[in-house]
Amino acid sequence: MKFWNSTLKGMEEYIPGEQPANIDEYIKLNTNENPFPPSEKVLGTIREAVNAGLRRYPDSLCIRLRQVFAEQNNLSPENVFAGNGSDEIFTLIFRGLIEKDGTAAFPYPSYSLYDTLAQSNAIKYEKIKMESGFNLNLERFLDKKYDMVIIANPNNPTGTFIESGMIRSFLDRFKGLLVVDEAYIDFYGGSAIELTGEYDNLLVTRSFSKSCSLAGLRVGLAVAHRDIIRGLVKIKDSYNVDSLAQAGAAAALLDRKTFEYNINMLRSNKEYLEERLDDLGFERVPSRANFLLARHPQISSEELYLKLKEERILVRHFKEPVISDYVRISVGTMMEIKKLCALISSILEGV
Ligand code: PMP
Repeated sequence: MKFWNSTLKGMEEYIPGEQPANIDEYIKLNTNENPFPPSEKVLGTIREAVNAGLRRYPDSLCIRLRQVFAEQNNLSPENVFAGNGSDEIFTLIFRGLIEKDGTAAFPYPSYSLYDTLAQSNAIKYEKIKMESGFNLNLERFLDKKYDMVIIANPNNPTGTFIESGMIRSFLDRFKGLLVVDEAYIDFYGGSAIELTGEYDNLLVTRSFSKSCSLAGLRVGLAVAHRDIIRGLVKIKDSYNVDSLAQAGAAAALLDRKTFEYNINMLRSNKEYLEERLDDLGFERVPSRANFLLARHPQISSEELYLKLKEERILVRHFKEPVISDYVRISVGTMMEIKKLCALISSILEGV
């Protein structure tokens, strides 16, 4: 740690969900990945892009990808930014869109990478506890003059959602930058993207990792006023999205048929998982994402997580307050859900 600066020494590490080396031996329901493979069209496009052209740098501005997304969403490409996963976009936000002496705020519980990034950029932040039932009261972010507020909508790890009408009414009174992380929005809709035309202090992020089954490709988008987008372009790495990722992400946007088919399948699997968890006696939080936060009165969530792991089923257990009472289960294939529920049922019989 000899060369670590004081910020680095003082920050906590982001702990991602486990990605075991022998991943195929596991049923993996711990990182909200999509259980269905990427579309064949996407895979074909990426394969085609694996050619001698790789000796060239990629398009540093991701023009085609931004154009495709802009066209589909009634935006102009100058309002769209492409990043190496939405995680990179959050890094850039903390690097360039808040002053060093500014204060950020986000709900608790939420995506813990926000804490890590605030810490790594030495930005002060506060966490506003969600209310009972994991309801998010945006009014609480008006109690002080925060320079930036980040909410995930739907939220991770709760799956809870707030309507864009509430976001609008918040923006009518909020003067700082509001970032709405829509990594999970595609599963049930309700995006705030259209508000970006009206509010120059709103930035919405999107991810290809969940709804497009492309977590491994690392592509995310940001939508905001063009001045914000220009700022992000200014501080990004020169070639932040590689050429395979740009080609694959654009192909994913264009293959609406596979996208919609997979979303529908995911939704019906989620309904099935909800019913089965209810039958098994779980208490669960209503979710608009591809995962469920649930707990069982007969067994601690940590014990359940460990017992499932022994049998090579991974779900997510967080050690932090409030959510340590729960496990977060990503919606898998029907077979995965059936195996999970059969195992839970036999675990419960033994306690
Ligand atoms: N936002 C939220 C709320 C998430 O849960 C995740 C996934 N861990 C991300 C963003 C990251 O998305 P990406 O893969 O696009 O970086």
